[in-house]
Amino acid sequence: MPFYEYRPAHTPGCQRCHGGLVILQKLNAPALSHCPDCGVALIKIISAPNVPTKGQATLSASNIEKAGFTQYKKIGQGVYEKTAGRGPNVIGQED
Ligand SMILES: [Zn+2]
Repeated sequence: MPFYEYRPAHTPGCQRCHGGLVILQKLNAPALSHCPDCGVALIKIISAPNVPTKGQATLSASNIEKAGFTQYKKIGQGVYEKTAGRGPNVIGQED
C-alpha cells in the first residue's frame, strides 16, 4: 500500500497535521479530506512515485487523474483550485 502525504489547507492545523500527515492507504481509498483530529481541510501532496523513470516521464494532468490523484494549485491565502482529478473544485474556502 502506498503512503499518502497531506498538508493542512489552513494553518496552523493541530499537532498531528501541522507539519504534514503521512498516511498508509489502499490505492483506491478515498482521499482524506479533513484531519481526523482537528478537522482542518487537508491537501493531498503529490510526490513522484519511487520508481525508475523512462525517458521524460512527466506528471501530466491526465496521468494524475489516471492514477487517482487530485492536483491543486494555490490561488490564494489557504485556497487551492483543482487542476486535475476528481476532488472538489476548490478547497480551503470558507464563508
Ligand atoms: Zn489536525
